[in-house]
Amino acid sequence: MKSEEKGGNDKKPILKGYTLKELKDYFSSIDEKRFRGEQIFNWLYSHLIDSYEEMQNVPKTLRERLSELTGPLNTLKLVTTKSSPQTGTKKYLFETLDGHKIESVIIPEIKRTTLCISTQVGCPLDCKFCATGLMGYKKNLSAGEIFDQYKFTVKDLEENSIKNIVYMGMGEPLLNYDETLKSLEIFANDLTKGAKLKRITVSTAGIAPKIVELADSGMRVKLALSLHSCFEDIRSKLMPINEKYSLKENLHAIRHYTKQTRTRITFEYIMISGINDREEDFIELVKLCKSMPCKINVIPFNSLAHIKPSGFSAELRPSPFERVEAFVQALRDQNIIVTVRYTQGEDIAAACGQLAIVENEDEKINS
Ligand code: SAH
Repeated sequence: MKSEEKGGNDKKPILKGYTLKELKDYFSSIDEKRFRGEQIFNWLYSHLIDSYEEMQNVPKTLRERLSELTGPLNTLKLVTTKSSPQTGTKKYLFETLDGHKIESVIIPEIKRTTLCISTQVGCPLDCKFCATGLMGYKKNLSAGEIFDQYKFTVKDLEENSIKNIVYMGMGEPLLNYDETLKSLEIFANDLTKGAKLKRITVSTAGIAPKIVELADSGMRVKLALSLHSCFEDIRSKLMPINEKYSLKENLHAIRHYTKQTRTRITFEYIMISGINDREEDFIELVKLCKSMPCKINVIPFNSLAHIKPSGFSAELRPSPFERVEAFVQALRDQNIIVTVRYTQGEDIAAACGQLAIVENEDEKINS
């Protein structure tokens, strides 16, 4: 009898999050046929099953063996959902098996539905405009926990199926590189089969060496950089990570990314009054955009009032609507592609940068 089968259930492997290769290797390691890996891959990630009994093409004896040997099939538990009556945006609160809370957001749009997923519990980056940073950093999510945000939301949506996934929820995906990459590999399988997903975008605050690694990984996902200022000093004030990986270093990595993947980079740009919406900001931004294939995603600054910020965070104000409009028009006049991500879900604190959880409480601080 193999050691794992001797009873004790400490550290049973959790298969959710294993890539195809890892699943095949797992079956080899327990003296089963490698093709079982493919079968289980399909059951876990395409059929989205909840129990081993549902795996019809797997013999009963193997199903029983697997439920003995392995941990739970679901890595998350759905705690609550909250919908915005105004926009249809829906926020999902999940609990991990070790008791942490995370959020995911569904953003319905006319032609496609987008899922915004989290990659960490909290975030270590402490960006001054973002609520998640204020809850501190708790842990990296596993690829299984990243995937299960998709599983639970897609099952909840019925026919309104998810077309896009954006890694823009809580956390910094490139600081959880290995698990993020594994989750991308799992989703990519769906993409290559042309099945359901159309596009995946990973958003980063700028972890230059990991941008290079992602470029060289062979994964063809879209990359977004949270830019927010073209000036190193202002960017460092807004995003302390810029002290470690400067904008210059990140832009170098991004040039490599656009060449390797032949994709256009998206620069995300939150409009903050007096900080990055001035004439000199505009001039620098235009210069940058002319230097590589890119588009700009302008994001009106979402209020942090619900987390009662202090210091520099408390001073940040959204650019006035007219300023945003004029800035966007001026960029377009320069033939730069600009989309404006008008706020979705601010009324349920599910908009960009508003995700924050107080441990051991299900609700936001102010609700
Ligand atoms: N760590 C990653 C992904 C999470 S943030 C990153 O930094 O890109 C996802 C997006 O939401 C980023 O573009 C981020 O800059 C933006 N965001 C954060 N706080 C925001 C706020 N208060 N208002 C508007 N957008 C915000």
